[in-house]
Amino acid sequence: MIRRTMAEFDVKAGLQLALKRIDEVLANRPKEIQTPKPILVAVSKTKPPEAIIEAYEAGQRDFGENYVQELVEKSQHPDIRSKCPEIRWHFIGHLQNNKINKVLSLPNLHMIQTVDSEKLATRLDAAWAKLEPKPEQPLRVLIQINTSQEDVKSGIEISKAPSLYQYIKSNLKNLQLMGIMTIGAYGFDYSNGPNPDFVSLINVQRSICEANNLNPESVLVSMGMSNDYDKAIEMGSTIVRIGTSIFGHRAAKN
Ligand SMILES: *Cc1c(COP(=O)(O)O)cnc(C)c1O
Repeated sequence: MIRRTMAEFDVKAGLQLALKRIDEVLANRPKEIQTPKPILVAVSKTKPPEAIIEAYEAGQRDFGENYVQELVEKSQHPDIRSKCPEIRWHFIGHLQNNKINKVLSLPNLHMIQTVDSEKLATRLDAAWAKLEPKPEQPLRVLIQINTSQEDVKSGIEISKAPSLYQYIKSNLKNLQLMGIMTIGAYGFDYSNGPNPDFVSLINVQRSICEANNLNPESVLVSMGMSNDYDKAIEMGSTIVRIGTSIFGHRAAKN
């Protein structure tokens, strides 16, 4: 039994506050931004199954994890399996080759948000095709883009993203390419204007749409976390990934 070490954070209240804030931002953002209401992915990394079940019972369905081992344990946890039958897991961390099969075979895996190379995309495509029993749908993926150009961050370079998009669309029939994602530099000071990482991601979305004759709704944009999801939504984010504001602070990793 995992003991709840956090100071009993009220997950339901955290979730409701985030949902309310999302609605407020949507109602007040510039009218020329017309993207649909963002999907809220509740980032539950380091948090126990009880916290996930609490959020699920308050109506939340999409959850994100960025460590393979944690996703493996939580997605197969008996209480989560029985109490959260419609949960949708988003993998939002770096995916190593030797973990691909492990992740793809997990129950209720919904989307991999972190595809950042032709190699990884090709391997995911092949692994999905070989899964038994055969999945009913292609594997949903996003392309992760390293908009802040930091060496430590995963993600493909901005300039190479449109060609990765083309590559996946034209060649990998077992993947359903849903859009693009970025993490961005941490701690941007918003008194300096719009976040350049969000500007870059929206620009990539625009060039992909122009090159492929798509409307913006067909390319999801995953950007915005607890400290800046409001700013991301103002710019047209369609997936926000929120951890701390829903589940409370995480203990430092040791
Ligand atoms: C942890 C994490 C989040 C959530 O961060 P918060 O600041 O807790 O909201 C979002 N996206 C990714 C990729 C993460 O690793």
